[in-house]
Amino acid sequence: MIHLNDLSYGYSRGVDVLSGISLSVKPGQLLGLVGANGSGKSTVLAIMAGLLTPRQGSVLVSGGEFLENGAGNEQRVRLVMQDADLQIVGATVEEDLLLGREAEADAGIRARDIADRFGLGDVWAAPVHSLSWGMKKKLCLAGAALDRPRVLLLDEPFSGLDYPSVREMRALIDANRQQGITQVLAAHDLEAFVDMADRLAVLEKGTLVLEGVPADVLGRVASFGVRPPCSWVLNRSVTHGEEW
Ligand code: ADP
Repeated sequence: MIHLNDLSYGYSRGVDVLSGISLSVKPGQLLGLVGANGSGKSTVLAIMAGLLTPRQGSVLVSGGEFLENGAGNEQRVRLVMQDADLQIVGATVEEDLLLGREAEADAGIRARDIADRFGLGDVWAAPVHSLSWGMKKKLCLAGAALDRPRVLLLDEPFSGLDYPSVREMRALIDANRQQGITQVLAAHDLEAFVDMADRLAVLEKGTLVLEGVPADVLGRVASFGVRPPCSWVLNRSVTHGEEW
């Protein structure tokens, strides 16, 4: 579950980039956090991930209610950053997936299994610099999945991906859904995932301006700098004769 209550944050004193944000995400749901560049999406995710401390307000992000023994809640929230090159630390796929997990007895087997499931089996031993951008993005998600998160925070997971890679990324996010993982997906564009979102939250200049199920929100996103999805625009065009 995720609860943000009246959250404010500033990188420098006196200049808030987020103000008064209250938001909840139910377990297992996918929230699309959308807004133009600089609207505050990454900052919200960093706060949810515990990387930044809000100036004001409370944050509860926990996989705890899913756990059998209540231990290690903080281990159950994972952030996948927008820039894969900043997240990848290993020299090869294998090394990247296993770094920091040496103490886990079954890590090698699980990492290999996840690499296969994520379509990275063939590049298991490859140097990470030889990977395509799509493979790098998948490797970052694979690393997060390896920790069996209950909450996944995905920052622009589709950015820079070609059509086949978008489809692969969609399938992986959908598989997370099937497993009951709560997901917050930050993006400046809705096109690739709007059909998978349970709810949408729209940020503008650090303020939450819209929140609700996609059907209730899509008609108003354009005024906040977010392009409505083509399917929605086409439907309006056909049924209402609207120009687009
Ligand atoms: P988004 O993810 O929607 O593009 P961000 O959360 O990255 O938005 O940025 C929100 C605001 O905070 C922007 O005005 C941005 O310039 C500013 N900002 C982001 N990161 C930093 C930082 N490390 N230091 C100072 N300002 C920052």
